[in-house]
Amino acid sequence: MSLLQTSRQGSVLLLHVSNPPVNGLSFALRTALMHALDGAEAAPDVLAVVIHGGAKAFSGGADIREFGQPQALAQPNLPSLCARLDEMSKPVVAAIEGLALGGGLELALACHYRVVQAKAQIGLPEVNLGLLPGAGGTQRFPRAVGLATALKLIPQGRLVRAQELAALPAQRLFDDVVAEAGDGAVLAAAVALAQRIQALRPLPRLRDQTVAPDAEAEAQALAASEGLPYPAPLACVQAVRGAASLPFEDGIRAERAGFEGLLHSPESAALRHVFFAERAAGKVPGVEADTPRARIQSVGVVGAGTMGQGIALACAQAGLPVQLVEPDAAARARALSQLDRHWVAQVEKGRLSADKAQTARQLMTVTERLGDLAQADLLIEAVYEDMALKQAVFREMDAIAKPEALLASNTSTLDMDALAQVTQRPDQVLGLHFFSPAAVMKLLEVVRGAATSPTALASALAFGKQIGKTCVVAGNADGFIGNRMVDRYLEQALFLLDEGCTPQQVDQAIEAWGLAMGPFRMIDMAGNDVSWRVRQQRAKDGKLRRAQPLADRLCELGRFGQKAGGGWYDYDGREARPSKAVAALIAAHREQMGRPARTVGAEEIVDRLLLALGIEGERLLAEGVALRASDIDLVYVLGYGFPRWKGGPMFELARRGEGAVAALRGAFAAVAHDDAAFWAPVH
Ligand code: NAD
Repeated sequence: MSLLQTSRQGSVLLLHVSNPPVNGLSFALRTALMHALDGAEAAPDVLAVVIHGGAKAFSGGADIREFGQPQALAQPNLPSLCARLDEMSKPVVAAIEGLALGGGLELALACHYRVVQAKAQIGLPEVNLGLLPGAGGTQRFPRAVGLATALKLIPQGRLVRAQELAALPAQRLFDDVVAEAGDGAVLAAAVALAQRIQALRPLPRLRDQTVAPDAEAEAQALAASEGLPYPAPLACVQAVRGAASLPFEDGIRAERAGFEGLLHSPESAALRHVFFAERAAGKVPGVEADTPRARIQSVGVVGAGTMGQGIALACAQAGLPVQLVEPDAAARARALSQLDRHWVAQVEKGRLSADKAQTARQLMTVTERLGDLAQADLLIEAVYEDMALKQAVFREMDAIAKPEALLASNTSTLDMDALAQVTQRPDQVLGLHFFSPAAVMKLLEVVRGAATSPTALASALAFGKQIGKTCVVAGNADGFIGNRMVDRYLEQALFLLDEGCTPQQVDQAIEAWGLAMGPFRMIDMAGNDVSWRVRQQRAKDGKLRRAQPLADRLCELGRFGQKAGGGWYDYDGREARPSKAVAALIAAHREQMGRPARTVGAEEIVDRLLLALGIEGERLLAEGVALRASDIDLVYVLGYGFPRWKGGPMFELARRGEGAVAALRGAFAAVAHDDAAFWAPVH
């Protein structure tokens, strides 16, 4: 099918854009639009033009299939197409439905008139890829909605409904807002407008408008972006300010220069990598478009602790009925009151309307009997991390669940196959490893067991998507992807203490590099007792890879972390303070090991921690536990506070290059005491 079809309604030429899925402005489409505009200009019987993209999208912007390819910027590029629209001597009307984002909105802004469906999504999200709108968006958008609104939306890449912008006083963005959706209502309104204004001159061009400076909005936007460790938001602010302070052509030139600068920035490369990682993660070998999948329409969650509650909330918020099973009366009462508080807080914080909260709340029931889950399509176990207990729960779930139901575990460390094998349906068993808080965190590791069927996997991936999660498929290895790597990272952090660092030195170094939270603050928040119990269990099972005497001693003192008022730090509420008791503990430990402290610089700390993640990631790839390096990056960015603008641990390893990484591995192996083997190359 052609990318651009034309039709006529009297003197109005209609250009129908069709480049699924979202009318990305590919080279071929830009060329076709350019020709069509030239043709309209030359045809004496065409008096006006309407561009429209159908009900789903006016245009989502650049065609992501061309990202990084020469066609993306080849002529006619988007700025030239917008300039061509400016030069038209006949009016051009954009008919916007679905969405007009990025370059798609810039195209619409260069048209003379815009008719929009009230619920259409509007925005310039380029900053999320480390860029700024480079086809006039920073100049025309403020001229349409005012400086304050442009400075609120563009530097944050925020999307809004058209009706919100249409309600702004004195806005010039939309000429007509259509309440109905579908049935060609927007197109009909656009054609009617085109017929009405076809003889009207001069043509209204946003470039000819002026926009007033707004000292307060500018100061606020500068303050919000100046301290950030990545350049795009500030570049957006500066470009948008140009709309008020510079003539249009100069503003466009400044925008172009800003865009070129960002295009080659490492942060933009990292952000684009994560953007593609998110798209790649959904492609799983064995799961094809025609793989049958069961639609999950009701969920049962077993265990109403921290995770069970969060998982149930995630389901209810997505509109799925969910039953939460908790046999312990006290735990059940606690869960009910915590869930109540959650809904109240959601309404108080303005995240949910009272109506929506009420609807979601009614989707949730709490019961004491597992037998009540007999009709659930998916049962998710979230009881204590204990193999015997979980196996017992799986036997029971298998006995009561309908034959086609899927059974899942939220285990962080246990062997999924050992759970599957106690059931009569191992092909319908898999891991759904949520991250805490489960109602908020976007990441879901989906663990494929030895017997998990493609249908079960496909159904679980569709379920993840349904509740708004980004799924990454992992093999059944201890700790799957995320926790297995984090184990090596925490181990490295402990080695750094052995060698002479303090917890705060380690945390500060990696936080200054960009991680949201250093390793010691992170485990203090998660609770040191959790990993302590895992170590004890592993020791019992003969599976402990390496003893961690210093971390054990911390726990023996009851220093479980933030919740206990002390861990690797002393706590006053959430504020972490260096602890004298911990300093003494570390000193005694070093003395016992007979190891003198050496000075370890921030650079070595960062390199050790990042390489620990990357090297274990390489092992996971070699073992087939992770499907691709970008999946690992996604796990770290979405689940562990790894900065999106740094791309993830595997991206970082690749950025440094093989030679540099090999040299560091050699250097670390030489100073390592008993972990030299870890730094050896992966075969
Ligand atoms: P939790 O201690 O808060 O909750 C466990 C709940 O299970 C308790 O309410 C308990 O009463 C209930 N329970 C015990 N036996 C039961 C049974 N037979 N039937 C029904 N309910 C039963 O634990 P949690 O932190 O929610 O962890 C649950 C699981 O999730 C564990 O496997 C854990 O490893 C995993 N996980 C935890 C986190 C986290 O950050 N807390 C993150 C990911 C995964």
